[in-house]
Amino acid sequence: MTEPGSNPVGYIYGPVPSRRLGRSLGIDIVPAKICTLDCVYCQIGRTTEKSTVRRKFFDVQAVLDELKSKLAAGIEADYITIGGSGEPTLNSQLGSLIDCIRDITSIPVAIITNGTLLYRPDVRAECTKADLVIPSLDAADAETFRRVNRPAPDISIEKLVSGLVQFRQEFHGQIWLEVFLVDGVNTSPDEVEKIRQHVECIRPDRVQLNSAVRPAAEPGIEAIARERLEAIARQIGGHCEVVGAAPEARTDRHMLRTCADVLSMLKRRPCSLEDICAGIGVTRNEAVKHITQLLSENAILSERQGGVTYYCTRPD
Ligand code: SF4
Repeated sequence: MTEPGSNPVGYIYGPVPSRRLGRSLGIDIVPAKICTLDCVYCQIGRTTEKSTVRRKFFDVQAVLDELKSKLAAGIEADYITIGGSGEPTLNSQLGSLIDCIRDITSIPVAIITNGTLLYRPDVRAECTKADLVIPSLDAADAETFRRVNRPAPDISIEKLVSGLVQFRQEFHGQIWLEVFLVDGVNTSPDEVEKIRQHVECIRPDRVQLNSAVRPAAEPGIEAIARERLEAIARQIGGHCEVVGAAPEARTDRHMLRTCADVLSMLKRRPCSLEDICAGIGVTRNEAVKHITQLLSENAILSERQGGVTYYCTRPD
């Protein structure tokens, strides 16, 4: 079991441009990469510890101190987003962390979770403290769940769906259900129809369709054309939408503008040049300067995906 300790890359990152959340100040509360799933599309890479055991990973006070100092530096965000390098509901201090964030700031709190532990009453109770919960549902049956999400042995699609249905009954905030589509696996009309039936039972406020716009854990997982995603959104109906583009770059004099900040962003996920500009509030020229420097130091790699170049840190 991992004992509480410090996170060498820090707990807070961003604000990063989020296609859903605007400027999202991220809190990473699970080390890379501990998760209940090992999704083929994961942008963080393969799961190294597949686990369903909740535990303390870090000292909550250290996380809060870092958050306080970011906010004191004048950083602005549309959401404080709990998520990061693994499944955040595996952190048994999730509920107390949200309580403490409420004491520091009025910025809304979002949780990005794969939803697999929502069958547990303690996890549901802790997640109800957030303003917005973004869970996932990428499959409607055991076979597709296994192919897309490669779950831990004690996680089933039935548990996932019943946890989501139960959570909707208990949570009065917003639920935006993400459906990540992997071409040829969960995109057929039959698969989509089965997912639609689960969505009808879950009753989220929104359904958001996503696909691999960034390099995925497995090769060959590609972004799906907008027209196809829109056709699938129409099939699901209701409040289903295709997740849009990142917000425009903005310059904020309080944001830091160093190679270290770029590196900190890239440690969490691959980013395009535009992501970096918007995430740390630098011009395109400044971002190019930092990227060139980091490439020359062999600190990062570049990779093409869907016609866009993404930058990421080198694997350890
Ligand atoms: S995409 Fe999310 S749920 Fe899936 S393996 Fe990566 S961190 Fe875990």
